[in-house]
Amino acid sequence: MSRFADKVVVVTGAGSGIGRATAVAFAKEGAIVAVVDIDLQKAETTVAEIAKMGGDALAIQADVSQEADWIEVIARVKGAYGRINILFNNAGIGGDGKPLMELDAADWDRLMAVNLRGIFLGCKHILPALIETGGGAIVNMSSSTAGWDTIFGGGAYMASKAGVTQITKNVALEAAPYGVRVNAVCPGIIETRLSSAQAGADEAEQDAFFDHFRQRIPLGRVGQPEDVATAVLFFASDEARHITGSTLLIDGGQTLQSWSNAPSAPYPPQ
Ligand code: NAP
Repeated sequence: MSRFADKVVVVTGAGSGIGRATAVAFAKEGAIVAVVDIDLQKAETTVAEIAKMGGDALAIQADVSQEADWIEVIARVKGAYGRINILFNNAGIGGDGKPLMELDAADWDRLMAVNLRGIFLGCKHILPALIETGGGAIVNMSSSTAGWDTIFGGGAYMASKAGVTQITKNVALEAAPYGVRVNAVCPGIIETRLSSAQAGADEAEQDAFFDHFRQRIPLGRVGQPEDVATAVLFFASDEARHITGSTLLIDGGQTLQSWSNAPSAPYPPQ
């Protein structure tokens, strides 16, 4: 398949989890992928995976919360490939699960810097490059916790993701006259390093954590990174040419049932 032949795609947080799966999915469909991550080694691993499939990708180390890093990312991608057509603004961090009254202001600030300021900076700096090519697409990473779900100890994370959903609409409005579409994906629980980190250190704790979600999710399975990648590629493709400012839940129905509907859900979590 070559839905994205000749497209140059920037994916942030592409060294792991959803970002990595999406970078690989874009490459499978013909895109050239700039694999951006705060950890260069992980970005290089994704690039190696793409190269093994015969694809073209470039690893770039950057912290999405830093404006100078974004300017460098864009210069390097344009220097290598001459253009940018698509951004998946995905990089993000989870919180440490503390209730807001116990949360340090510095932890709040870091979460907002990566999860919300990072999204703003990505939109701000990529837009001129997309406009230069006559249009393009941005997909922002939000979450089911941006208004649908509430999770104990997730206040800062959820506020950051609600901000992403809102900023997506504003950027969509402002970018539409230039032929740039901007949408957001809102996954429920997806099995990645970020979600496993909430579960605890050992395998048994992690199994119990994901089992708990499995029981709550009407479709009876925990989401995988590829489930999100499929939706990102749809938003980025011409099939979504009349869709902008939209948010898509990808949660197996998780938010149709409250947390307490799951069997044996302790509250607050132990
Ligand atoms: P993941 O496996 O931890 O991947 C996130 C990647 O982003 C990691 O490689 C991480 O590097 C990188 N990263 C962290 N901070 C960065 C920064 N400042 N600049 C550049 N890269 C940075 O987690 P994931 O689950 O795939 O998460 C991807 C996105 O999906 C996040 O925005 C997350 O909030 C969102 N999301 C996840 C879930 C879920 O259940 N997993 C649900 C809804 C939304 P390090 O590992 O070195 O920090």
